Amino acid sequence: MMMTDPIILCENLVKIYKVADLEVLALQGLDLSVQRGELMGIVGVSGSGKSTLMNVLGGLVRPSAGRVVVDGYELLKLSSTALDRYRRTRVGFVWQEGARNLIPYLDALENVQMPMTLAGTGGKRARQQAEALLDMVGLSDRRHHYLAELSGGEQQRVAIAVALANHPAILLADEPTGELDSATALTVYQAFQNLNQELGLTILIVSHDPAIAQHVQRVMAIRDGKAASETVRARRPDPSREGPPTGEDHDEEHFEELVVLDSAGRLQVPKAYREALQIKGRVRMELVDGHLVIHSVAEAEYARQTAARPKSPGAATPTTGRRPKWLARWRRNKP
Ligand code: ADP
Ligand code: MG
Repeated sequence: MMMTDPIILCENLVKIYKVADLEVLALQGLDLSVQRGELMGIVGVSGSGKSTLMNVLGGLVRPSAGRVVVDGYELLKLSSTALDRYRRTRVGFVWQEGARNLIPYLDALENVQMPMTLAGTGGKRARQQAEALLDMVGLSDRRHHYLAELSGGEQQRVAIAVALANHPAILLADEPTGELDSATALTVYQAFQNLNQELGLTILIVSHDPAIAQHVQRVMAIRDGKAASETVRARRPDPSREGPPTGEDHDEEHFEELVVLDSAGRLQVPKAYREALQIKGRVRMELVDGHLVIHSVAEAEYARQTAARPKSPGAATPTTGRRPKWLARWRRNKP
């Protein structure tokens, strides 16, 4: 991938919601970099922080700490007025319920024209742009239908066209296919792919369905408010053919899951590997022939090693076998 300035950059993003006396850590140091023109999926179980991330990127929620830059705007540094303006002009939003973006007594075309009218672009030009957008989401023949006359998938595609009416730099979709069956969801994904290709639009789609990997170029998995792994689409050459990979159709397409390293160098060992190798507590890392090897360390072995290790002089714990009085008192107080 060509490395230009990313259109979205999150560094160590933290969002804490305060509810009465409770603090909810929705984002716990999330890192994310998205290039202009990417079509990307974000997956994670319910409560993992997906919507919080979308709302931060959309300027609806202010992060508690970290850095977030979208389309050149440092969102943490914007005034409320500037953030309002950013939200109205630079981002398009699509929600789970398509109807949320639509006005029932206007037809599809009028719905797409409405944000343009509000922004002061009326008349013939607005109409032409609205028609072009409806065409790109495959709804030219539905332009004069009202909300009640459109299927769920069609409503969602009109909502996508509405979200794009004012030329945003990014399109954010939060579970846009959550209420659709898989055949209908496919038509919505096709609309996203079309817009991504024809307009070079950057699109982020949140889903709790890992199958989204088939419809986008890259998928980031969020776990506990942090990026955990990434699935990228790659072509692997057909082994029965000789010569260099051609990128043609007989090269089998496959998905590769990559583990994400955060800015501090932390990574998460996938659960299946931890269980298979009984990795727990501590591991030993070693560089072997240019590869990083992670060895499991049996707990008994670890305990033996720490017990056998001579205490260094000047260590905080006294080595005389006698404990200071305060330590004894503190220990007795423990439950
Ligand atoms: P997801 O979209 O992946 O289901 P969310 O971003 O909605 O996750 O939520 C992440 C965590 O933050 C959850 O524990 C949720 O309860 C909490 N949360 C989300 N929004 C708010 C809010 N406005 N006030 C308090 N807690 C919230
Ligand atoms: Mg959500």
